[in-house]
Amino acid sequence: MAAFGSIGRTLTRLARRGLYRRRRVMGGPQGAVIQVDGRSLDNFCSNDYLGLASDPRVAGALAEAAGRWGAGSGASPLVSGYSQVHRELETALARFTGRDRALLFGSGYAANQGVLQSLLGPRDHVFQDRLNHASLLDGGWLSRAQFHWFAHADTDELRQQLAQVPGDDRGRRLIASDGTFSMDGDLCPLDELAGIAEQHGAWLMIDDAHGIGVHGPGGRGVVDPSVHGQQQVQVLVGTLGKALGTSGAFVAGSEALVELLVQRARHYIYSTAPPPAIAAATLASLFLLESEPWRRERLARHVARFRAGARGRGLPLLPSSTPIQPLVLGDPEAVLAAGALLEARGCLVGTIRPPTVPPGTARLRITLTAAHEPEQIDRLLDALAEINPVPAQACPA
Ligand SMILES: *Cc1c(COP(=O)(O)O)cnc(C)c1O
Repeated sequence: MAAFGSIGRTLTRLARRGLYRRRRVMGGPQGAVIQVDGRSLDNFCSNDYLGLASDPRVAGALAEAAGRWGAGSGASPLVSGYSQVHRELETALARFTGRDRALLFGSGYAANQGVLQSLLGPRDHVFQDRLNHASLLDGGWLSRAQFHWFAHADTDELRQQLAQVPGDDRGRRLIASDGTFSMDGDLCPLDELAGIAEQHGAWLMIDDAHGIGVHGPGGRGVVDPSVHGQQQVQVLVGTLGKALGTSGAFVAGSEALVELLVQRARHYIYSTAPPPAIAAATLASLFLLESEPWRRERLARHVARFRAGARGRGLPLLPSSTPIQPLVLGDPEAVLAAGALLEARGCLVGTIRPPTVPPGTARLRITLTAAHEPEQIDRLLDALAEINPVPAQACPA
């Protein structure tokens, strides 16, 4: 039992290195302004990119469906937890992504783990971008496949790694990448990845948690189905808790892929289905995503405004065209101090430190949403200028 005595030392060490994490308690819904500790702050750290999380029509659909379907699903989807609303949402997501089928999971974390563990085993190979989301990295590792990491977006290294797998190796090869990188905001080199996958007979898995609803024609994400169908990107993962404003995730692909997941994905089989009311709310938000393109257009204008303002104030931006606009400061303590200063100026931003990002690249993670007003962005820019950050180095990939 004494071995667990080191827990206290671990916590002390984290605090000393500026790596201790604290949860802030929100006193109200997500929105451009958020209630924190009795104060109203401009909210620059949610992934609610389209402002749908607290849209009355989405919340209303949730309430109405809860009245009809109850609060919980009651069981795993393979027992009695799979409802007509779940099926309707899966059909809608398959249509939206241009795939045969889609399968709902309780979270993106579970979806990625479930896919990788269903598709891969010890005789197989998984190739992952170093900056992939933790759920992809962990899923690849837990699948027991041989794990190959390539430097961020480095398709030359990926090619070399694939070429080194012996030709007589009969194992499967899966390339997995974030579509939009969650902490840097840049996009994966999708055309190249798809070309490499095809050339090597590998499958390509794209987790577009931050691109769905935000990016590309119709907000379909980084994977435009008219260019990259399920023959090119065999496994497409999207989450519902970001631009769609609800909760959960889906995997979209061929009939065979989805059926395999139903049979094999432990995170699907041994887990209670999401509440039907969440599925109903997501149907409502998907409808708004498609019928109100102004949200995406307004968001794009906000991103342009932020970047122009940041450039004008000499702030060191990363090459991101997405609503994720990080300011890399490097040192965790510097990031915490900057976060506190911004908060004193009325702005809440993400303070992201290792191990979420590589050591030496701690950063402010600023996210913009369609719900913001231009004046909020200008106030944030003025506050950021006060931090006076030195130009950060490019992220070591
Ligand atoms: C947020 C995120 C996930 C996890 O999704 P949850 O539904 O929040 O569990 C997976 N992948 C990426 C790239 C993400 O950004």
